Amino acid sequence: MKLADRLAQIKPSPTLEITAKAKAMKAQGIDLVGFGAGEPDFDTPEFVKEAAIKALREGKTKYTDAGGLPQLRDVLCAYYQRTEGLGYTRAQAIISNGGKHVLYNLFQALLSPGDEVIIPTPFWVSYPDQVLLAGGTPVFLPTREENGFCFTAGELEKLITPRTRAIVINSPSNPSGAVYDEATLRAVCEVAVRRKVFIVWDEIYKDIYYGEGRLRSLPFYDPEVLPYTLICSGLSKNFSMTGWRIGWLLGDAALIKAMDMIQSQSTSNPVSFAQYGAIAALEKGPEHIGEWLEHFRARRDALLAAFQRIPGMRCLEPQGAFYVFPNISGWFGKSWKGGVINDSYGATKFLLEEAQVAVVPGAPFGAPENIRISYALSMAEIEKGIARIAKAVQTLG
Ligand code: PMP
Ligand code: GLU
Repeated sequence: MKLADRLAQIKPSPTLEITAKAKAMKAQGIDLVGFGAGEPDFDTPEFVKEAAIKALREGKTKYTDAGGLPQLRDVLCAYYQRTEGLGYTRAQAIISNGGKHVLYNLFQALLSPGDEVIIPTPFWVSYPDQVLLAGGTPVFLPTREENGFCFTAGELEKLITPRTRAIVINSPSNPSGAVYDEATLRAVCEVAVRRKVFIVWDEIYKDIYYGEGRLRSLPFYDPEVLPYTLICSGLSKNFSMTGWRIGWLLGDAALIKAMDMIQSQSTSNPVSFAQYGAIAALEKGPEHIGEWLEHFRARRDALLAAFQRIPGMRCLEPQGAFYVFPNISGWFGKSWKGGVINDSYGATKFLLEEAQVAVVPGAPFGAPENIRISYALSMAEIEKGIARIAKAVQTLG
């Protein structure tokens, strides 16, 4: 089968691949602890489900505007006005089929061949492939564990060229859980404004934050950056609505219009009744989040404490999201019955086969010495997983 040339540049999403593999193994009756999936284990709040059911019953099952119901876009703007004091209008808002689709359309609308997008490492697996699919060039900005997996404004500026259109910032980060501090963000905003570079501000984990107070959207840190800010988010994480496929972008009206056009020629609207659920979610806000955070924090702390005991693992304390991202290079060169562990893929295979624990290798996130562990599963499962990892690591020779 001759497929399109552009496919040679990309690979399947490794996070989704591992999640599917773990599900299939469980379905075969294998007692697997699944640390792979990047989706909360909590149920979607009942009132959101009720709103979608009501919409279904009322026959709201037809096409909507391609870029989302005007009512939803207005409710979204009102949400950002209420929570961030930002005055977006309907023409500056688009609803797509999840945050992933938002980013896909954004890169399709923004990039011409050879345009560069700066992507700090470690990064969420889909950014580089989406940039490549749009004909753009990903330019990686390495960050270091010693700097909490955050880059500085100076490091960013060195990578900006006349072809740079955007930099992606995902804070809190998937996979590292890193959160950028205010001073760094202000300095980064200053660079973006001066060099006229867009900031793709992926705030999908904004509400999942363990520090003091709450995290804010980028323009809070520097109002001047507003025209260069593209806020990308959705309801997958803070409302546990991964399967509903609701995401949005807020930003430049001309860009939104272009994304709307792409959407009108590809997917059309996001699912109509999911949009009515989203209206209910945004009208009320994530009031449940405090309770979820207590669970997430306890799980994170249990994992971090375990990594201090397990040989060859070390881990920064993530400030947000629901992932820990330990460095496991201490296992490299060690052997088990499946061979020698040489990289993060080898470590993942070892954990899957020797410990029946599914994790995601760090390499596709641009961090070859790490593995990603999602703690979106019960404390009992987490403890079971930790015990299995500890036991398996003891056998490494
Ligand atoms: N951005 C980041 C950093 C993510 O981890 C995800 C996870 N799925 C998304 C965007 C997109 O999520 P969704 O498509 O479910 O809205
Ligand atoms: N973003 C989540 C993850 O990183 C869900 C899977 C995906 O869309 O990549 O696991």
